[in-house]
Amino acid sequence: MPKRQCEEALTKLFEYIDGELSDEELLRIGAHLKECPPCEAEHRINEKIRLLVSKANGESAPHQLRERVLSTIQMARTEAT
Ligand SMILES: [Zn+2]
Repeated sequence: MPKRQCEEALTKLFEYIDGELSDEELLRIGAHLKECPPCEAEHRINEKIRLLVSKANGESAPHQLRERVLSTIQMARTEAT
């Protein structure tokens, strides 16, 4: 297994996961991951990281919701007085 292929696969893993590569690169790296267990393991780790990152991004939603709830309560208070 030429090491250069591993390097290419590893440096482009995030782009691969995000589907930001050209079809040709997607195919080449996908094929490499299938035949190279160390890179495939790295790929799975990166996929988990991606998932955690997108989860963390999603957590800003409850924060916004809380702000909206708070301002609604404040508005209700203002109207009551
Ligand atoms: Zn490899």
